[in-house]
Amino acid sequence: MKFETALIHGGVSEDQTTGATSVPIYMASTFRQHEIGQNKYEYSRTGNPTRGAVEALIAQLEHGTAGFAFASGSAAINTVFSLFSAGDHIIVGNDVYGGTFRLIDSVLKRFGMTFTVVDTRDLNAVNDAIQPTTKAIYLETPTNPLLHITDIQAIADLAQAHHLTSIIDNTFASPYVQRPLELGIDIVLHSASKYLGGHSDVIAGLVVTKDADLADRIGYLQNAIGSILAPQESWLLQRGIKTLALRMRAHLSNAETIFNYLKQHPAVAKVYYPGDPDNPDYAVAKKQMHGFGAMISFELQPGLDPKAFVEHLQVITLAESLGALESLIEIPALMTHGAIPRDIRLQNGIKDELIRLSVGVEASEDLIADLDRGFASVQA
Ligand SMILES: *Cc1c(COP(=O)(O)O)cnc(C)c1O
Repeated sequence: MKFETALIHGGVSEDQTTGATSVPIYMASTFRQHEIGQNKYEYSRTGNPTRGAVEALIAQLEHGTAGFAFASGSAAINTVFSLFSAGDHIIVGNDVYGGTFRLIDSVLKRFGMTFTVVDTRDLNAVNDAIQPTTKAIYLETPTNPLLHITDIQAIADLAQAHHLTSIIDNTFASPYVQRPLELGIDIVLHSASKYLGGHSDVIAGLVVTKDADLADRIGYLQNAIGSILAPQESWLLQRGIKTLALRMRAHLSNAETIFNYLKQHPAVAKVYYPGDPDNPDYAVAKKQMHGFGAMISFELQPGLDPKAFVEHLQVITLAESLGALESLIEIPALMTHGAIPRDIRLQNGIKDELIRLSVGVEASEDLIADLDRGFASVQA
């Protein structure tokens, strides 16, 4: 079954009892056992048919053995890190989601796990960071907000050679653009609040495992920790996923148009986009991604005020988050990455004038007219 078909018919796509073409929202906490132990479901934290449907779907879409749905991307990430114990060392990409950094820095370190942060594009640096206690490599590609691209296959090979668990947060790409398990990664996870949900109306997280042993362990932790996705949200997420391919095609095509517009604009000093042939990560992006995603970051020329720019837009929404139908714009230094000290931000290449744009599916003419409005406001 092709990916576009699996979005609609994959996993569990209809009600098993009535044939309803939409899986019902099973608002039940418990299930009758006609004979003890002869039941499909017992209690909704452990398993719920609506959640099970979206879990089966994401497993199929990412080509894994099992899928798991959580109350948020952050809950998914916390559950995956719960595979590890005090004394374990984990290598983490240097440009990971701010909330992941916060979880590591203010929670997991208190539990005795240790971390080394490296630029995972540099395989020698990753290799050098491996210690006797290292258990995993955790990364994002593309990263946020600079859209750096790590060679997924190379990381998977390195992890395998050292018996490490490789974990990728695939939120920025979505399984339409990139499927890390096919390249040898062990665990892929998502903030489904972004492209998978797609409509800015649900907070959810998803995890998919490559092998059955990891599936058992994540399933155990999902039930033990209990940060599961509720039935209503599970339904909403599955409904969103059905149109992923349609949405992504529009996102990708608009992103390319906007990139070409920004690249030639005299008020723009630099554009970050994996599909830019001048980008040093372009070859790796082309090799492992189907399209280049729909996130673009850019810097205005020195002296131009990024705050005035984003505040003068009328179509593009000034807001955090990404992966929505509507285009979303933000200034990382003042918003999503504001909690990171300025010197560390600058060290990581996140300048004060950097703007991050999640390109939506509106008519590209309207988006460009809106960006023109923003440029006019800073040059007047
Ligand atoms: C948003 C996001 C998260 C956190 O997900 P929530 O659903 O907001 O908890 C994790 N990783 C990435 C890359 C994200 O963009």
